[in-house]
Amino acid sequence: MIGTGVAFRTRSWTVLLLGLLTTASPAAFAADCPGHPDALGTSRTIVVDPHEHPRIGTMQYRETLPLKDHEVVLTFDDGPLPKNSNQVLQILADECIKATFFIIGEQAKANPEGVRKLVAAGHTVGTHSMTHPLTFNKMPLDKAEAQINGGIEWTSAAMTDPSKLAPFFRIPGLMRAEGVENLLISRGIQVWSADFPADDWRHVSPDRVYQLAIQRLEAKGKGILLLHDIQARTVAALPKIIRDLKARGYRIVHVVPATADRPATPTMAVEWLLHPPTETTPIARWPAVPNFVFTQTERLPAPGLADLNAQAAHQPLLPRKTIAQADVAATLPAPGRDLFAIPEGSIEVLLSTTLSRRAATRLAMAAETPHAAKGKAARVQARRTAHAAHAVPKHVSQAKGAPPRPTRVASLKKRAQ
Ligand SMILES: [Zn+2]
Repeated sequence: MIGTGVAFRTRSWTVLLLGLLTTASPAAFAADCPGHPDALGTSRTIVVDPHEHPRIGTMQYRETLPLKDHEVVLTFDDGPLPKNSNQVLQILADECIKATFFIIGEQAKANPEGVRKLVAAGHTVGTHSMTHPLTFNKMPLDKAEAQINGGIEWTSAAMTDPSKLAPFFRIPGLMRAEGVENLLISRGIQVWSADFPADDWRHVSPDRVYQLAIQRLEAKGKGILLLHDIQARTVAALPKIIRDLKARGYRIVHVVPATADRPATPTMAVEWLLHPPTETTPIARWPAVPNFVFTQTERLPAPGLADLNAQAAHQPLLPRKTIAQADVAATLPAPGRDLFAIPEGSIEVLLSTTLSRRAATRLAMAAETPHAAKGKAARVQARRTAHAAHAVPKHVSQAKGAPPRPTRVASLKKRAQ
């Protein structure tokens, strides 16, 4: 099963067809799972080299495992916790499924037998820190390193053969940090995120865990599923998830690390992308887009109004007056102080007094034509009108020749502010 990937690299149709027949046939799975003819089984094992692909899982990284369509990798975090982890182990055993477990150091310290059971069952065992702090994204690097070392120390100490420990690490809570990742990578440890979780650490029903697992898998078509073997709801949901995976034609893939005598499964770089570009996608064959077009283009000046009217001599597009105004006055002048002042004696002011409309109009006419007011008749008329209203004498005196003083209109002034 380990060499299945070679078939795809050789591009031999005969070998490819044989490979598909041997890996995808349900009969082959049943044969691998004595006593469980309906088992989902494990379709193939891939060997990965952490040095070549140090970060995997599209929830956070560009690359993920080189899975084919409808292939799934099951992962379980935070164990071992005897009560629930043992049940998960039994469910997987009944289906002949191999998975990857990320162990917490303290759990291994408390339940080393649980770690040994995983190894004995043929599962892959990686680590998940010493105490599962959800602060890897901000803790000092030396503390992160102590957490990483504690998990590795106690998990390997629980194993009969510590070389069985895979150099795989999943950051608690996926709280990634560049420094932590670089530290892990420098030590040849592969950083595992996931392609989709099923939210089984939240307070949701087992049925909800099942629904999310299937919905999210269907949305991506393949990938790494993140589960927790310490959760009772996961134990309850797992059989239904597995049954549905089989009904929908999914296949389980087991992942193991490369060693000196177990070389990595040959793959092409593009296979480590969740959805690599296909032959039918034209852009996949285009050369890389150079960036000079955008980075070296100067900003063009905005066209002047004269440019728009360049053919005005032959085909006038705009009235000439409009052009001249636009050229000269870029902004409108600020209004003068007396813009909102109304001269005393004007019809507006007089109408606001207690004068009758007729008298007010007469006074206003007199104010607007001071020369005419010099006549005797006008003076007499003004005096008569003055008796009609106490507010008028001042207006009359102004009407005799003094320039009209502005009267501020409070309401207008207020509005102008
Ligand atoms: Zn965890």
